[in-house]
Amino acid sequence: MVESVKKSGPGPGQEARPARTDRALDPLDLFDVRSELSEDEALVQDTVARFVDDQVLPVIRECFEQHRFPQELIPEIAALGLFGSSIEGYGCAGLNSVAYGLICQELERGDSGLRSFVSVQSSLVMYPIHEFGSDAQKDRWLPAMARGEAIGCFGLTEAHGGSDPASMKTHARRQGGDWVLNGSKMWITNGTIADVAVVWARTDEGIRGFLVERGMPGFSAPEIENKMSLRASVTSALFFDNVRLPESSVLPGVSSLRGPLSCLSQARYGISWGPIGSAQACLQEMLAYTETRVLFGSPLSHKQLIQVRLADMARRITAAQLLSLRLGRLKDAGRLHPTQVSLAKWNNVRMALDIARDCRDMLGGSGISAEYVPVRHMLNLESVITYEGTESVHQLVVGKELTGVSAF
Ligand SMILES: Cc1cc2nc3c(=O)[nH]c(=O)nc-3n(C[C@H](O)[C@H](O)[C@H](O)COP(=O)(O)OP(=O)(O)OC[C@H]3O[C@@H](n4cnc5c(N)ncnc54)[C@H](O)[C@@H]3O)c2cc1C
Repeated sequence: MVESVKKSGPGPGQEARPARTDRALDPLDLFDVRSELSEDEALVQDTVARFVDDQVLPVIRECFEQHRFPQELIPEIAALGLFGSSIEGYGCAGLNSVAYGLICQELERGDSGLRSFVSVQSSLVMYPIHEFGSDAQKDRWLPAMARGEAIGCFGLTEAHGGSDPASMKTHARRQGGDWVLNGSKMWITNGTIADVAVVWARTDEGIRGFLVERGMPGFSAPEIENKMSLRASVTSALFFDNVRLPESSVLPGVSSLRGPLSCLSQARYGISWGPIGSAQACLQEMLAYTETRVLFGSPLSHKQLIQVRLADMARRITAAQLLSLRLGRLKDAGRLHPTQVSLAKWNNVRMALDIARDCRDMLGGSGISAEYVPVRHMLNLESVITYEGTESVHQLVVGKELTGVSAF
C-alpha cells in the first residue's frame, strides 16, 4: 500500500491551478507550506491530488445532484493505501500524521463527502479496532478494511443530543454468555453501506464499544433521505432491537467515554486539514472567474473590493495551512493536546465555510448553480461545522482550557 503511494511518482497535483504563469507565489499556498513537506509527504499529496483531479472531479457534481455516494471509487481509494493510512501493519500504509492530513485536504478539495467516507473508515472504525480491539478482531477487520472489501461506520450520536454523548441511552446487557443490544443512533456516516458498525453503548461495566455486523437479526440501518448537505455521502440511522452479540464482538480495550472520545480526536485532526482543500477549490475557481467576468468596463479582478475579498481568502487559507502543519508535526512528535485539535477544527472549518459563502456571492446568480464548486462546498461545510463537535462545542473546549471552567 505504501508502495502504491510512493511508486506512483510526482503527479500533477497543482495541475488544476490557474493558468497564469507570471506569479512569483502559488496563490493557493502563499507561504510555500509545500516546501516544508518531506519527499514522501509531498508524494502522498501529489498522488491523492491526481486521483481527485482524474477520478473524483469528473463525477462528483453529478453524485451530489443525484444524492449518490460514488461507491465505484472505493477500490482505487484502497489501492492508493488511503484507508487506515496511519496504521502500521495489517496491509495499511503506516504513513505519518501530516501525510494523513494531506490526504484529507486533497480529498476534500474534491468533496467533503468523500473525505468523510475515508475519515470514518480510517479514524472512527479502523483506529478503535486497532487501538482497543482483540487480536482476532484486528485480524478479521483491518486487512479487509484496508483493501476496501469491508466498510465501517461509527455509531455514537443519538437523536436526543449528539453534543452530550455521556447522555447516551443505547445500552447492552449481559445475557448468558452473550450481550443484548437495544437503542438507536442518528446521523451515522456510511451506516447503510457498512459491513460493520462500531457502536458505543451504556453497560453495567461502563461505556463499551461493540462490533455489530450487517445482517444481524434486529439490526437495521436505513439511509436518511432529503439531505441538502453531504449529498455524495451516505448518512443513516441505526436501530438495535434486541441484537444478540457474542462476547467476541466487544472491544476489550476500553470501557469508558475515553474510547469514543479518542476516536473523535483522531477524526477531528483529519477534519481540520480537509476544509483547506474546499477553500482552495473555491478560491481557485474565483481567481479564474474574476479574471474573465467583465463588469463596468473591466474584469472583476481589477476591482479593489474584489481584491480585498480574494486577499482575505488567501490570508485565511494561509493561516489554516500553517496551523494544520504545526498540528501535524505536534501529533507526529506525540505532543498533541485535544484542545489544539478543537481550535484547529473550529478555525479551519469556519475559514472554509466563510470562504465558500463569499465565493458563492461573488459568482452572483451563477453562484447558486452546481456548475461552480462553491455552493456544493458551502452546503457540505454546513455538515462539517456541525459534526465531530459543533463549532460551539469546540469554542467551549478552548474556553475551558483558558479559564479552567467547564461551561457546557
Ligand atoms: C452529515 C452528518 C454526518 C454525521 N456522521 C456521524 C457519524 O458518522 N457518527 C456519529 O456518531 N455522529 C455523526 N454525526 C452527528 C454529529 O456528530 C452531531 O450532529 C453533532 O455532534 C451535533 O449533535 P446534534 O445534531 O444532536 O446537535 P445538538 O447536540 O442537539 O446541538 C444543537 C445546538 O446546540 C449547541 N450546543 C450544544 N451544547 C451546547 C452548550 N453546552 N452550550 C451552548 N450550545 C450548545 C450546538 O452547538 C448546536 O448548535 C453526523 C452528523 C451529520 C450532520
